[in-house]
Formats: sequence, structure tokens, C-alpha cells
Amino acid sequence: MTKDLAAAAKERGIKYFMISYTDLFGSQRAKLVPAAAIAGMQKNGAGFAGFATWLDMSPSDSDMFALPDPETLIQLPWKKEVGWLASDIWMDGKPVAQAPRLVLKKVISAAAEAGFEMKSGVECEFFLVNKDGTAISDSADIATKPCYDASALMRRYDVITEICDAMLDLGWEAYQNDHEDANGQFEMNWSFDTALVTADRHTFFKFMVKSIAEKHGLRATFMPKPFLGLTGSGCHAHVSVWRDGKNLFEDEGGELGVAELGYHFIGGIIQHAEALCALTNPTINSYKRINAPRTLSGATWSPNTVTYSGNNRTHMIRIPEPGRFELRLADGSTNPYLLQAGILSAGLDGMKNKILPGARLDINMYEEGHTVKDAKRLPLNLLDALRAFEGSAVLEAALGAEFTKSYAKMRHNEWLEYAAHLSEWERQATLDC
Ligand SMILES: [Mg+2]
Repeated sequence: MTKDLAAAAKERGIKYFMISYTDLFGSQRAKLVPAAAIAGMQKNGAGFAGFATWLDMSPSDSDMFALPDPETLIQLPWKKEVGWLASDIWMDGKPVAQAPRLVLKKVISAAAEAGFEMKSGVECEFFLVNKDGTAISDSADIATKPCYDASALMRRYDVITEICDAMLDLGWEAYQNDHEDANGQFEMNWSFDTALVTADRHTFFKFMVKSIAEKHGLRATFMPKPFLGLTGSGCHAHVSVWRDGKNLFEDEGGELGVAELGYHFIGGIIQHAEALCALTNPTINSYKRINAPRTLSGATWSPNTVTYSGNNRTHMIRIPEPGRFELRLADGSTNPYLLQAGILSAGLDGMKNKILPGARLDINMYEEGHTVKDAKRLPLNLLDALRAFEGSAVLEAALGAEFTKSYAKMRHNEWLEYAAHLSEWERQATLDC
């Protein structure tokens, strides 16, 4: 039975609901609706002007309505009187085909029809920076190898544990928090779940981390490469495929404990990797993380080549243990819904067409990558990724033509905006030509 939000408000002391949705660029949009008005909004949705957000709409379009999914209700841990809700977007009585949450639902349905349910977990790295975002927030955090730095972690105890306590209360099964490989960088982990649950939680996590950091006088950023010499913020995804409560990737007799089906999924990711980058690495800044030169800590921890390996973090895909793989491609700017939708689309194609991933590589890619002659390089910039994305009939069919057209158009516009800027480097390199 669908949860009655008006009744939930009375029971839990919710005064306001945040009816929110995520646009194509991953920005979260919301209206704050008093509990007295929630019954009508639950039925008809909250009205928005679509053009005002990144959804490829026109100012002349009808109102669009964000219809909250009552199953996603979360009381803001830092302000319990507000209930957050993820929503699906409708316009003129129809679902909006390019809305990211609906795109993910479409791919999940296609997987279900084929008898598959993807489960995944995400590792969201982020920096705690000063208010204007120009420097990390902790001036004492200067170690060359700051990963797992106990003191730097404990100097942020108050903010990290407030977020972790919130995840525990929400039942996300949070299990560890650490200082990551860059100065000022952290990662917090919670348990994996179905793709939609993980995407909703990922969305809420970003909002929560930013909000709680702000409460502590800090600013949190998921920007892929905020500081050039330091390791960037990835969003590694751990993936498995299930049916009737059984992990179909698990096979004791399979190579590294992964079933043939799992290798086909990996084959799909490898085949579509360049196109997938438009979703996993969707910003101009994304390409300063992948393909980056070695950082201060000694490694970038991000891939530049389309390869897979066993328990070896220098490859795009790692198989850390039987029954799952880790895709290390995505970064903090990925849209949580499009990340899952993209991975599942590529994987479904791999499983359906039994795509083979080629041979596993066990070398250190950071040292010996140049010896690999037959692996594809990842796109060097967003434009290359967008061109690959637009050329992918498989992703277009899986994600829907309306979505791929709108998404590519909006991102191309962003590229053009960037290209119109004259950089200091450009002036220096060209002034005396
Ligand atoms: Mg990490």
C-alpha cells in the first residue's frame, strides 16, 4: 500500500516536505511544501517551470509536475521537521522521457524483463574546502601521502560522524569512513542495494554532506579535480546482478570467482566505455581527473585506459573478490541516476550479446601502461565523450532517444560555453606566436 504522506507527517512530526527531483546535470531542485498541503501534492505533484532547470525544456512548455515517491521519504537528519522526497517528473499527463530518475526506471524495467536485477554500491569521494572553494579547509592537512591520516580524519570528527550517524539512523548500514588520498579529501561508505535505492541514496548523500558541512562552517565539493596536483574525487561503483535473491555473478568455478555472465557484463562496459564517459564523467573538469599526470601522493587512482584486472586498482575495472566488480571510471560529478542507468545499459548489452571483455591484465598500469598497445584510451575531453555517446545506438536504444538527444544537446552547450573562455594558459602559449 502506498504510504500516506499526510498521515506520516502527523505520526513523525513533519512540518514541511521537500519535493525534489534531479535534473540532467545532477542538480537537485525542490519545493518546500507544508504538511497541510501534502495530500494534494502526493496526488497531483508539485508544479515547476521546466525551462528554469537543466531539462532541455522551453519557456513556453506547460507546467511540469514532480510526483513524489512516498517510499523515498527521509526526515532530514539535521532538521527532522522536514521530510525529503525523490520525485518523478510528469508533463501534460505523461512522464518526461528525459528525466533522469525515469530513465533509470526504464532501464531497470528492461533488465527485469530479461530476468536481471542489478545491485550496486557507490564510493563517493569529496573534499571539505573553504567557503569560496579555493583551498582545502584544514591548513594542517599537508602530508604528501595523506591517505588514512588519523589526525586529519579526527580533526573532522564532528562533521564526519554527524553524517555517519545519520546514515546509521536511516538504516543504510554505514560501515566505514576515512581520509582519502588527497589533502582535504574524505570517503564514507554504506551498504549496496538495488540500483534505484542506491541512486536515491547517492542523491540524498550529496545533499546531506553539503548541508551538514555547511552547518559546520565548511563547504563540501564532489568536483572531480578541484586541485590539480592532488588526487581527484572518484565515484567508484561496485556491481553485481541478481535473480531471486541469488548473485548471478558468483561462481566458484569461474575465473576469480566471477561467472561468465559477469564477464559478459564487463564486456559490455568495455565495449561502450568511451560513450559511457558522457554519463560517468560528465563535466569539463572530469577529464582533468582521468588521464591525469601522477599526483603528489604518487598515483592518480583513476584510469586512462579501457582495461580490467583482478584485485589491482590501476585498471578501469577491478575484480576485488568473487561475485562483483568495481568500475573505477565515474567521478563525483556523475548524476546518480544516470550513473546507474549507464552502467546497466552497457552491461545488459554485454549480457544479451555475450560480449567478451578480452584478456585480463595484471600489470601496474601506472608504470607499464605504455606497453599495452591494443587497449582503447579513454576520451581526452568531454567533447570526445559526447561524440562517442551520440554515436552509440546501443545506449540510445536503452536510455531512450528523447533522453540522449536532450542530454547531448545540454552538454554540448556547456562545452561551447567553456570553449568561449580565453584561459591564461592559452594567452601565455600563444601571445608570442
Ligand atoms: Mg576511494
